[in-house]
This record gives sequence, structure tokens and C-alpha cells, in this order.
Amino acid sequence: AKRVVIKVGTSTLVYPDGSINLRAIDQLAFVISAMRHRGREVVLVSSGAIGVGLNYMGLKQRPKAIPEQQAIAAIGQTELISIYKERFAIYEQKIGQLLLTRDIFVYPKSHHNVLNTFEALLKQNVVPIVNENDTVAVDELDHETKFGDNDQLSAIVATNIGADLLIMLSDIDGFYDGNPNADARAQLLGHIEQVDQHTYELAGGSGSRFGTGGMVTKLKAAERMIDANGQMILANGADPAIIFQILAGEPVGTLFG
Ligand code: ADP
Repeated sequence: AKRVVIKVGTSTLVYPDGSINLRAIDQLAFVISAMRHRGREVVLVSSGAIGVGLNYMGLKQRPKAIPEQQAIAAIGQTELISIYKERFAIYEQKIGQLLLTRDIFVYPKSHHNVLNTFEALLKQNVVPIVNENDTVAVDELDHETKFGDNDQLSAIVATNIGADLLIMLSDIDGFYDGNPNADARAQLLGHIEQVDQHTYELAGGSGSRFGTGGMVTKLKAAERMIDANGQMILANGADPAIIFQILAGEPVGTLFG
């Protein structure tokens, strides 16, 4: 895989108590910069804007009203990207921010434009950092503009830019035959070739406080990658250096495809 998309969930970036996991962000910056240095093209899809925004504003909980949440997302995105910029700069790696909505990929003209932007950034050795544009895409507009979550956005980006590997980092070691937070006997499944109805039945609801997608959206992302003849690896982002193991072909997490 020359071109790789890495998706990090809120649970990797924000501790359960709401504070920001700067160590994880720093590790990500290090690993991605090293990958670039070794000739790979990497796109980072990062959640965490709301979690970081809550921390920045000294709030313990997500506000209920959508406009307030969008405001927190706008504040948090600014803070998050500042942290990324600072951490990537330590490794002399430049970044560029892309805030996307679903309709961008639906309309041919904007679709074409956004792909050109990705190409131009990658050509200049810049790491694109992608997030859903929460300030314009809201739940109420679901099918019109919203991806629903960054899990699916990461797969849409990967398949569109021709990346054949999506590395999905979450707060769990991989995909289990049951929700491991609810069932202690759940076993990790190392390889899933096809995502089908049965696979979806094994996925429970979201486990983390700030996470939104849960396992179902990760399966949808895996399905999208497999349909495009690509692969997805779901692994634990607690230590982002796990990416080195993945790229070395070591059996970590769950391989889809
Ligand atoms: P993120 O913030 O990284 O996107 P989520 O909290 O949205 O993470 O989703 C990961 C969670 O999905 C896990 O912590 C776990 O509680 C839950 N989950 C439900 N079913 C499964 C399963 N079959 N295998 C693994 N995790 C599962």
C-alpha cells in the first residue's frame, strides 16, 4: 500500500475524563511523518473536534442543542488542528486541513476539485488532515450532506483517492464476535473476508463516551473498502506506533478483506 488512509477516533485523542491525549497525537505525528519519509502517501481522517472543543471551553458534557454543538465543533477543530500542526512541525512535516461534506463527493464538479486538492497536497509532501465539516453538516440534513461519521468518510476518501488500505484506530483491539465491553467471553476475530448480515449482528452500540460511530459504521467502512478491492485494518490506537506493526505485515487487530 503506497497510499494509506488512517482514521483516528475520538477515543484515541481524548481521555475518558475529557482531557486531550497529547501523547497519542504526538505519536501519530511521528509515525505518519516517518511513513512519509519512507515514501508512503498518508491521509489522516481525525475525529475529536467536539471532544477537544469541550475541553477547551471547560465543559464536561456535549450541549444538547445542535447549534451549540456546531459551535463547539468549530472551536474544537481549530484547537485540534493547531495541536496537530505543532506536533507535526516537530518532525518537519507540513499538514493541510480539509473539511468535507457528503455532497462534495456527489456533485461531479466539487468531487473533481476535492480530488485535485488531495493530489496537489500529496505531491507536495503535505499530510491532508480530514474531518467532516460539522458546522454545515448536521444530523437533520442527514442524507443530504452528512456522512454520518468519520468512519464512513474515511472509506469514501480512501476509495476515491485510490488508497487500498484504511487503518482504523479505535479504543478496542479489533473486531470481536460480540461487544467485549458487555461480554467478557467475546473473542477477537483476526480476519474477516466479507462483511455480511451476520457480521453486523456481532456489532453492538458505541462504547465510548465521546465516540459516535460505534462498530456498525466501522463495518460499513470495511464493506466499502472490500467493494473497492481494498482492505481495512481495525486496531487499537492507544499506542499509534501499532501502525508500524501493521505496515510490517504483523497480525494485529482485525483485517477486513
Ligand atoms: P471510536 O471513537 O474509536 O470511533 P466507538 O466508541 O465509536 O470508537 O466504537 C468502538 C466501540 O464499539 C468499542 O469500544 C466497543 O465497545 C464497541 N463494540 C460493539 N460491538 C463490538 C464488536 N463486535 N467488536 C469490537 N467492538 C465492539
